[in-house]
Amino acid sequence: MRHTRHGYWLEEAGRVESTAPLSGNVTADVAVVGGGYLGLWTAWHLVDAGATVVVLEAAICGHGPSGRNGGFVSSLWDQLPGLEERYGHERAREVGRASEDAVAAIGAWCEAEEVDGWYRAAPQLEVATTAAQDGAWEPVARACAAAGLGDECRELSAADVREICASPVFRGGLALRTSATVQPARLALGLRRRLLERDVRIHERSPVVRLRDRVETAGGSVAAGAAVLAVNSATGGFPGHRRALAVASSHIVLTEPVPDVLEELGWTGGEAIADARTLLHYFRTTPDGRIAFGWGGGRMGYGARPREALEVDADAVEHARRSLLRLFPPLTGRRITHAWGGPIDVSPTHLPSFGSRGGVHHGYGFTGNGVGPSYLGGRILASLALDRRDDVSRLALVEPEPARFPPEPFRYLGGSAIRRALVATDEAADTGHATGVLTSLVASLPRRLGLHLPR
Ligand SMILES: Cc1cc2nc3c(=O)[nH]c(=O)nc-3n(C[C@H](O)[C@H](O)[C@H](O)COP(=O)(O)OP(=O)(O)OC[C@H]3O[C@@H](n4cnc5c(N)ncnc54)[C@H](O)[C@@H]3O)c2cc1C
Repeated sequence: MRHTRHGYWLEEAGRVESTAPLSGNVTADVAVVGGGYLGLWTAWHLVDAGATVVVLEAAICGHGPSGRNGGFVSSLWDQLPGLEERYGHERAREVGRASEDAVAAIGAWCEAEEVDGWYRAAPQLEVATTAAQDGAWEPVARACAAAGLGDECRELSAADVREICASPVFRGGLALRTSATVQPARLALGLRRRLLERDVRIHERSPVVRLRDRVETAGGSVAAGAAVLAVNSATGGFPGHRRALAVASSHIVLTEPVPDVLEELGWTGGEAIADARTLLHYFRTTPDGRIAFGWGGGRMGYGARPREALEVDADAVEHARRSLLRLFPPLTGRRITHAWGGPIDVSPTHLPSFGSRGGVHHGYGFTGNGVGPSYLGGRILASLALDRRDDVSRLALVEPEPARFPPEPFRYLGGSAIRRALVATDEAADTGHATGVLTSLVASLPRRLGLHLPR
């Protein structure tokens, strides 16, 4: 097994030469800071609207989480109860519908732009793998049913689930219809390529060090009518956003091609699946018959600082490997070829948010579900940067009531203690053991404090 920083998807997608760093002073209608999906989709929608754009990326576009994730393209319907609690039924449903449109729009974009991002539409499942997880999806199912979304969101019996994927530990679950999978790096690099072809100036290896009247890097600056901050877990390093996020991490292991095992499981429909733990496992197949299996329970980051353990963590990888075998025993003896990880921008509400501070517009907080929603986020940020009041810039995700994490070092210390308690609680549920009183108390703290957790 090779544990690399960038992971399998970027290797499969092929090397790209980085573009020239920013040098000197330039002008544009909009400067976009960050070349992951959010920054790149923003640039795409801005160019569509006729704006001139400069993208400044600290490393290479798509080499962060956008090129390394699980490739689940999801709507926000699974967040409907939380959305309704915060914004009321109608505004919550507007967000759900817009996020559903984004899933389909990414597929349509790949087709129109002839980008082979392995986009495959298929329902996404949430399944219970222990009795403790049974019915975890019921609030979502109820909220969807009340919204008349019976076709979009369907409860599944254990037999229904096993019809789709016959893991011996699967029980009942929920299927969300409008979902897909992609090869994340192919999508991100395809988007980068098409932007370059549309003459967007992308300067890589150009970390932005200051965002004031001009957007400044070590080598130059951009004078722009508006700036967009799309830097994911690095957001907290910019003034005004220090307490907006906590940084967690997620890790993935990838098997060798195992088409015979997929055949045996009957898992040939391309469905992305997650279990219903608090620190969830998520898994999907690839066209050449591999299983990518992730765990969202990695270590916490400190502030917005990069941290090696967020990307390469042998303990998190070993957890994912063991869980993979527990869920799919026929994989015993099969090779795991790759392992990798990356940071997760956890928002206190579990929902992304967007907004503006003067001429600087920001988006962050995808909390492990950014592949689909970042397309919508790009539309929102393009509208904000162009000062357009339209259907997307009026969504409830724009300028929501602020929610904040505690400052460091409390965020790191508290977050790490809660993470340890959640790992222990999930493990105890998996193995049918009881959890200690103190562990249960610590694990329940976020709920008591009104914070939603990464799932
Ligand atoms: C292991 C893993 C699995 C995941 N699985 C899924 C999944 O299956 N489905 C899903 O929906 N989501 C998943 N996610 C989350 C998803 O990858 C993210 O939500 C999404 O990629 C966020 O896109 P982004 O553009 O905001 O961030 P990023 O892709 O992180 O892009 C931000 C960019 O900003 C750059 N940057 C940072 N600081 C600066 C600076 N000062 N100046 C210039 N540039 C800067 C970075 O180099 C980076 O390229 C996963 C994440 C991880 C780590």
